Amino acid sequence: MVNLAPACTADLKQDERQPLPYEEPVRTWAGYGTGAACNVCGLAVNVHDIEYEVELLTHGSVRTLRFHLKCYRIWEVQS
Ligand SMILES: [Zn+2]
Repeated sequence: MVNLAPACTADLKQDERQPLPYEEPVRTWAGYGTGAACNVCGLAVNVHDIEYEVELLTHGSVRTLRFHLKCYRIWEVQS
């Protein structure tokens, strides 16, 4: 009798909705979260979580994305 934990199912659902194409970051750094929404899963990156901030150069303008550590890895391997 093995049941999938609800958390696993939730993670799968999050992984399926990935709107962001991978672009080469011009700058990446990590720190503790600020409560801002993650650009992959849409959930807040809490102050106890590691937040990755990535600056992308898109059509000549810089934009900043924020990720949970887990979500950053998901996004990164899409390239
Ligand atoms: Zn996330």
